[in-house]
Amino acid sequence: MAGVEIGGLSTVYPNGVRAVDGLDLGVVDGELFALLGPSGCGKTTLLRTIAGLEQATDGKVLIGGRDVTREQPGSRGVAMVFQDYALFPHMTVAENIAYPLRVRRAPKARQREVAERTAAGLSLSGLLDRRPGQLSGGQQQRTALARAVAVEADVLLLDEPLSNLDARLRLEARTFLKRLQRELALTTVFVTHDQAEALALADRIAVMESGRIRQLGTPREVFQRPADTFVANFIGSTPMNLLDGVVRGDGVECVGALLPLPADLADGTPVVVGVRPEYLTVAAEGIAGRVSIVENLGVTSLVTLECAGGTLVGLTVPEQEEPAVGDALHACPAPGRLLCYGEDGLLLGAV
Ligand code: ADP
Ligand code: MG
Repeated sequence: MAGVEIGGLSTVYPNGVRAVDGLDLGVVDGELFALLGPSGCGKTTLLRTIAGLEQATDGKVLIGGRDVTREQPGSRGVAMVFQDYALFPHMTVAENIAYPLRVRRAPKARQREVAERTAAGLSLSGLLDRRPGQLSGGQQQRTALARAVAVEADVLLLDEPLSNLDARLRLEARTFLKRLQRELALTTVFVTHDQAEALALADRIAVMESGRIRQLGTPREVFQRPADTFVANFIGSTPMNLLDGVVRGDGVECVGALLPLPADLADGTPVVVGVRPEYLTVAAEGIAGRVSIVENLGVTSLVTLECAGGTLVGLTVPEQEEPAVGDALHACPAPGRLLCYGEDGLLLGAV
């Protein structure tokens, strides 16, 4: 078992693209850690640099406290599952799983034993003699995971492990991956562009943009207190309300209301007020507006309110009567959930 430490890491491609840009990161032993960010932000490059498949231009990679920056992939103690699984099409499931052992010239009996044991843990027992072409997407994914687990590495690196699955299988695979990781207590770094997946699975998340980390925290921290407006925009199934405001006295003038201000700022300072729809209830009091859209979500409804100088999206509470388009209603932020961002986009505080 081992943690991963990254210090001042940069990876520059020969064409000059700085895909990882002076990045610091610590993954704790046994942790399930997510690298989250939009396409092209450098997630795969970072993972490949940890694995040793890309050479770091600057900085260090430590695994289990050991500096592996100049080591070959094979000696780093990592196993990586690629986005497209990269299974060998001409080998059976059993041969695919046992491949890392074959490379190490383990005895045939041992190869079969490990393949059978790992396959059983991943509900693949009945499929050991099939080839990848005869498997569903989910089965291929489990085979790729089984092969990575059979490496008996210290650190498991997964690049978009669930991205090729359809929505329903993805939910199943998510639960399964979490259970497997807990059982093995294997330090795992997984890459995803799907914020919901990162929030659901990870112990901690690093939100990346342009080769750097914008925020590192628990799913709760990243969801409730996004460090800047980029993270605020990126995280959440429904986009956060982000509205321009101006400091007036000890409040913020915004959407026709004077809202509390969590920082001491000069009169006239422009700020951005942020509040998640999940923390904005549609009620009889609060910021006045008129209902323009109602979307039924099952237990609650997502309600769009046209307010003076802006639009707010909030939620009804369970059992609340569904508002109708045209109703005059109010949006009421939950205590502590009104966020205030400065002109530079950085979080000033919450109130
Ligand atoms: P992500 O996995 O977050 O989508 P990548 O790590 O694949 O991002 O890519 C980060 C940046 O590096 C992108 O601008 C991409 O175009 C560039 N890039 C990726 N691989 C290479 C490569 N082999 N050569 C040159 N540029 C690359
Ligand atoms: Mg990628």
